[in-house]
Amino acid sequence: MNTAPADVDESVRALLATATRRLASTADSARLDAELLLAAVLGLDRSALYREPERRLDAASRARFLQLLAERARGRPIAHLTGQREFWSLRLAVTEATLVPRPQTELLVELALVCIDADGRRDVLDLGTGSGAIAVAIAHSRPACRVCGVDRSPGALAVAARNLRQLELRNVSLLECDWYAAFGARCFDLIVANPPYVESADPRLDAIELRHEPRLALDGGSDGLAALRHVVAGAPACLRYGGTLLVEHGAEQGAQVRELFGRAGFVDIDTARDLDGHERVTRGGLAG
Ligand code: GLN
Repeated sequence: MNTAPADVDESVRALLATATRRLASTADSARLDAELLLAAVLGLDRSALYREPERRLDAASRARFLQLLAERARGRPIAHLTGQREFWSLRLAVTEATLVPRPQTELLVELALVCIDADGRRDVLDLGTGSGAIAVAIAHSRPACRVCGVDRSPGALAVAARNLRQLELRNVSLLECDWYAAFGARCFDLIVANPPYVESADPRLDAIELRHEPRLALDGGSDGLAALRHVVAGAPACLRYGGTLLVEHGAEQGAQVRELFGRAGFVDIDTARDLDGHERVTRGGLAG
């Protein structure tokens, strides 16, 4: 006879119900979060949880799940707890050393791919590559391209290197470097960047949403535009004539970023909106 009270039941169904209640006040996706953590502990896909709701966890798995749950309740991102995140339908390794790849950054990838024919041999530079998400997505979709990912964080580059190995991508190289510091002459056809663009005083940096991610990848200085200014101003020297620059930026920064592009000599400047309707990615071309 099972005399255990419901809240210490070890079945998948009962643990998910308890976990969802516990996360309800801290996460707006409590049920999904609980499923992702439990699936990670069991080494299963989320859908498997629904096939086996009565499956019972052993003590070690249950303890591990409750520990992850407590950390999630303190705000640690799911991707850091499971060590992975899907981006552009690719499974990427992610750690505390990198920004968690966001769905909105897939817009940048989408626009980058528009600039490159399916078998186009182009040289692409991804500035501040972090986990390598953008570089990996472009290299995977455009195997003839040579993509170079740079970052000044060795911890982030280690994660990017792991992703290249896991996905067996041979057309990406990585370089520890501060923005353009290693590049002198015009050598790229496309430059992409998701630089830090949050204002230093934005309370989100210290709040639950962002405090677990590296400040280096988020803090864009007092007006949020410091890195964007540097990236846009430095691009023409490293872009071949006819090349393109694409940058992600904050929802309110579109007009200022277009102005930076204009001042740097770019033409055909245009901003695309993300799925929430916010201005998110600006592109410009260098006249040929
Ligand atoms: N999109 C992120 C956020 O506001 C910021 C990313 C960045 O600074 N590059 O949550």
